[in-house]
Amino acid sequence: MKRIAILGSTGSIGVQALDVCRRSPERFRVTALTANRNIALLEQQVREFSPQYVVTAQPQLYPALCQALRDLPVKVLCGTEGICQVAADGQNDMVLNAIVGIAGLRPTLAALEAGTDLALANKESLVTGGELVLQAARESGAALIPVDSEHSAIFQCIQGLADPSEVSRILLTASGGPFYGKKREELQNVRAAQALRHPNWDMGAKITIDSATLMNKGLELIEACHLFHKRPEEIEIVVQRESIIHSMIQCVDGAILAQMGAPDMRVPIQYAFTWPQRTPLATTPVDFARLGKLTFGEPDEETFLCLKACKEAYRRGGLYPSVVNGANEEAVSLFLRDRIGFLEIGKLVWGAMESVKPDGIEVTLENILTADHQARTYVKANTGIVGGR
Ligand code: NDP
Repeated sequence: MKRIAILGSTGSIGVQALDVCRRSPERFRVTALTANRNIALLEQQVREFSPQYVVTAQPQLYPALCQALRDLPVKVLCGTEGICQVAADGQNDMVLNAIVGIAGLRPTLAALEAGTDLALANKESLVTGGELVLQAARESGAALIPVDSEHSAIFQCIQGLADPSEVSRILLTASGGPFYGKKREELQNVRAAQALRHPNWDMGAKITIDSATLMNKGLELIEACHLFHKRPEEIEIVVQRESIIHSMIQCVDGAILAQMGAPDMRVPIQYAFTWPQRTPLATTPVDFARLGKLTFGEPDEETFLCLKACKEAYRRGGLYPSVVNGANEEAVSLFLRDRIGFLEIGKLVWGAMESVKPDGIEVTLENILTADHQARTYVKANTGIVGGR
């Protein structure tokens, strides 16, 4: 029986993680649930899974959550502090971080510093925290297990090698998103509703927009560099339209290993929970004969500026990935509220990188949060000016 705290339990990954736990109650015990504002769903989840702790990130929702759960013996907490407290609870065998955005960084560090194994869906914490996150894991000995489907695929492939240094190249797959093949002129008038229609995956709003702009692939490239100790030149992004191949590794002898399956995040979630073992999970099998073919291509970095911005940010190093990430989070939020156009997201991300310029500043938690804030301020100040509509 593994005791697992689920951070971001009301989101797309959180809900699927709870489904994994629901299907194997003899294997997984949910110890804590956290959300931001959706306390109605959080209450339902507490009633079903009976965790010891429940947290809302919003202190103003604390009284309402306490009131809703007053008949239960669950301990109610609030704020980022509350989330970090449950992340650092030494009683857990594992923490799943499925919070969206840089809000996940402090809980990631809290879990790893406490020495608790971390199943990481929150890619933004590795993109911004980078070496800080890896160092926390190294120092405490906690395992950092990727949940992102591509990184889980690479991680799964590596399990078959005698030594991870036998990997010469990573082939990071991308679906290409809803606008694959389109040029800038065709993307001028794209609205949130169109960008939210991902061809293969049903995910939270932020990552779905990131998939449409290819920011997601840029964030994943940085994530892969950190997780697998590779340089960007050793990682090739391959468009795999059907999202059947979740990523591949090429070994030093030229052999290529792939992890495949129908798009279903419960597979990487459960693998992170049970690693290094595998346990049964009812999933839709891939019918290769019916599928007929797999389609490959390459990403278009001239149309999708965010991918190139992430590569440049990683090349510059230091706090640049935090700037790019913060600018993107702010821009996506504005796009979702119809305040800026689709193409402005990439322009604002590049603009923030050129304007904030955090060269030579040490990567500490405080400086990451400052760089994030400066990038967001840049985006807010330049909305409607940079490439304005
Ligand atoms: P969702 O938006 O669906 O869910 C996000 C979760 O985080 C919700 O529980 C939300 O609470 C909570 N949350 C939001 N803001 C805060 C905050 N400021 N403080 C604390 N909690 C907060 O996101 P996804 O599940 O799609 O994605 C989660 C993470 O996993 C992201 O980093 C994403 O990139 C990554 N990921 C997601 C995949 C997917 O298939 N969805 C695939 C691979 C990676 P509330 O509901 O109350 O708003």
